[in-house]
Amino acid sequence: MSKVLAINGGTPVRTQLFPAYNTIGEEEKKAVMKVLDSGNLSQYLGAWTHDFLGGPTVRAFEEEWSRVIGVKHSISVNSNTSGLFTAAGAIGIQPGDEVIVSPYTMSASAIAPLVYGGIPVFADIDPLTFCMDPKSIEARITSRTKAILVVHIFGHPADMDSIMALAKKHNLYVIEDCAQAPMGKYKGQPVGTIGDLGVFSLNYHKHIHTGEGGVITTNNTTLAERCQMIRNHAENVTAPREEKDLTNLIGYNYRMTEIECAIGIEQLKKLPSLLQQRLDNVAFLNEKLSAFPAFEILPMLADGSVNTYYVYPVKFNKEIAGIERNKFVDALKAEIPSAVLRETAPLIGAGYVKPLYLQPIYQQKAAWAFNPALYKGDVSYEKGICPITEKMHFEVLFTHEYMRPGMTKKDMMDVVNAMEKIFENIDELKSV
Ligand SMILES: *Cc1c(COP(=O)(O)O)cnc(C)c1O
Repeated sequence: MSKVLAINGGTPVRTQLFPAYNTIGEEEKKAVMKVLDSGNLSQYLGAWTHDFLGGPTVRAFEEEWSRVIGVKHSISVNSNTSGLFTAAGAIGIQPGDEVIVSPYTMSASAIAPLVYGGIPVFADIDPLTFCMDPKSIEARITSRTKAILVVHIFGHPADMDSIMALAKKHNLYVIEDCAQAPMGKYKGQPVGTIGDLGVFSLNYHKHIHTGEGGVITTNNTTLAERCQMIRNHAENVTAPREEKDLTNLIGYNYRMTEIECAIGIEQLKKLPSLLQQRLDNVAFLNEKLSAFPAFEILPMLADGSVNTYYVYPVKFNKEIAGIERNKFVDALKAEIPSAVLRETAPLIGAGYVKPLYLQPIYQQKAAWAFNPALYKGDVSYEKGICPITEKMHFEVLFTHEYMRPGMTKKDMMDVVNAMEKIFENIDELKSV
């Protein structure tokens, strides 16, 4: 039976907002009260004393993080962004160095090298995983390349075997941006433990959060110590530590507080079950959504790999559907709420983020690092340098978060029914 689509004035499938994703409960409240009662909200000292590495809760949180992720060192920082900056500093990025990074990621991934005068060079993505394509990375390697900054985008692990082989061959550092992939795995290995450094996010929108926060992971003790110094006023401790290599050992204050780390410890306990709920919801949606011929969902993962599904990507085939992707997404947004209670961020989007090189900072090369006295290379940020990223973003991909824990089967069926209603009445969209 044909129905009028909501975008054409018909009755929407659902108007009631979807459940909020809230991971904060009594456990976090109790843990915060304990810190407040102690009066010690941050024990850090920016000097070479016992407190250089923070107070008891900071240390306990880092220890737990190392245990859960399976890594030697965890260094807490006040965001993934500051963690990426720290990582770029720790590996010794200098003016003139190039760092290969994905254009299809949150903007901070590409900004990290620029802070130290490094130049982001964008490699194209793989159309199956949306992570950087090793073939494109290889084509971008020059004598100036210092590092590859890998992003496990949407929670899908990047092709680390190929990337680590390239890094080894060309003597490059590898930083993994794991903001969207906590407890993700690549062929049995936890992400954040494969490259030289991993960086996680604890911001409000991530799987688990502490309001704001981040964690750097590494099995390399020298890099761990360099990160600890950059996090906390490095210049004050290089003399007593008798540091020989002072490269980038200018310190910031990127410290997390005892309160945030107390929340982090409780959040970390919840992470395995939150991830499992997410994966169960994804399995449910995978089955339902694969019934629509116009959809292509992510390919099967390699054995031992875990996609953490920060975002659920769907490739939309406009030839099969008979309409453009944007029309479909607009129609879907009319059938069901695209935001949840307490939040304004949309749960569904046409594409993800505009390819980063199209941002004004790259278009105008508006950072000191691009000064020709410092950078002798010829990086290009022209439209067209990453054709697959552009095609995915502007035409093919849509992303949604209707698989968050808290979504019931009934909630998810409303999403599926809205999609079905659109496909059954697609002719209504062809004429307009
Ligand atoms: C969220 C995110 C960041 C930034 O994390 P913050 O903790 O907000 O600084 C960086 N990279 C990716 C891929 C992200 O998803």
